[in-house]
Amino acid sequence: MSTNTNLIYHRVLLKISGEILQGVNKFGIDIKIITRIAKEIKCLVEMGLQIGLVIGSGNLFRGVELSQLGINRIISDHIGILSTTINSLAMQDVLHSISLKSCIMSSIPIHGICKIYHWKEAIDLLSKKTIVIFSGGTGNPLFTTDSAACLRSIEIQSDVLLKGTKVDGVYSKDPKKNIDAVFYKNLKYKDVLKKELKVMDLTAFTLARDHNLPIRVFNINKSDSLYRMVTGYDEGTLITA
Ligand code: UDP
Repeated sequence: MSTNTNLIYHRVLLKISGEILQGVNKFGIDIKIITRIAKEIKCLVEMGLQIGLVIGSGNLFRGVELSQLGINRIISDHIGILSTTINSLAMQDVLHSISLKSCIMSSIPIHGICKIYHWKEAIDLLSKKTIVIFSGGTGNPLFTTDSAACLRSIEIQSDVLLKGTKVDGVYSKDPKKNIDAVFYKNLKYKDVLKKELKVMDLTAFTLARDHNLPIRVFNINKSDSLYRMVTGYDEGTLITA
């Protein structure tokens, strides 16, 4: 672990795609991966960082994929929305097992399982160093958890949206398929749009741009990448105005 302990952020929103949670499996949750991420989060909470989490559900169900199987698109998205809560519950349980306080706030009511999202309460909890897991996406079909991550990030006034992916940041092309893909350390919102770089869907991205929310795309599978980012080391790709 590096020795620089100066946090450059006060409050962050960490978005983790469902795909990360499945590890090498084709479906479901790899508890070892959740545990590793939870332990990295613990280290940051102990340093004083306030953390909100949004977890996708690509490891379980995605609306588009289900609709291709013949399920009505809106219902497919409802299944996706509910799946984000399943991942959030798994994350909460692991956080609890390592003595971290957390609260799941869902965009849709699921009585007896999680709280309903409330902006002011979320900020109060974060201020008390409780990790808030925002589940259920935006609560509406036809959106993504990237949109939810941008939305909640803006609402809770986080300093940055940290988007954890499987690659080191933003490239000109898919680095897994193109060895000549160029890596970008810094990007402007307008460059992402002009070059049509795949950072997130346009609805989510333009929301971030319109509210001047900095986005950092990084490799969450790289150990200590979270720590390095929040302590000012050069990690991932930073997208700003
Ligand atoms: N979803 C939705 N509205 C939202 C967020 C998510 O309908 O506001 C549904 C949608 O079907 C989506 C699925 O939940 O495919 C999982 O979200 P996402 O694809 O963003 O997950 P990730 O790719 O981050 O794992």
